Amino acid sequence: MKNACEIWKDQLLEAALTGSLTAGLEEHLRTCTICSEELGNIRARKARLDTLLPFVAQRSEPSANFRAQVLAAARAAREGKRARPWRVWRLAGATAVVVVVLMMGLTLQRRTARMIPENELAAAQKLTEWRAPSDGLLVTPGQEILRTMPRLGESYLDVPVKTDEEE
Ligand SMILES: [Zn+2]
Repeated sequence: MKNACEIWKDQLLEAALTGSLTAGLEEHLRTCTICSEELGNIRARKARLDTLLPFVAQRSEPSANFRAQVLAAARAAREGKRARPWRVWRLAGATAVVVVVLMMGLTLQRRTARMIPENELAAAQKLTEWRAPSDGLLVTPGQEILRTMPRLGESYLDVPVKTDEEE
């Protein structure tokens, strides 16, 4: 087909399919062998398709119970849609809650399990090192006496005895 014949393409198809020619195309076909051949080709293809189509359609025809299957599937899908969504979502929600709770519990448990010994260790260490701020005030001469056992003849209270001379 020449470039000049492009404009007749649609009309050629139309002519082949409907069997009727427009005046312009009829005139062009008289002078253009290419378009005449093209029209013949298209007509032949159409005829071939026309004979094949029934077979194609027949072969692709659904099985006898296809309609029943489709209807049953549609009904099941409709019923399932009606009944399932909330159930599915509730299930999903419950599952999500359970998972979250479990995860939180595990995390907490792991955290406390890891934290308690540290806390206890720190507290114990603090206790061993801890001294009251007033400890310094408790240092008295008597402390030395309390640490040591008094020897025979010695007194706990090593208080100088006042004599009359000193008075
Ligand atoms: Zn032409």
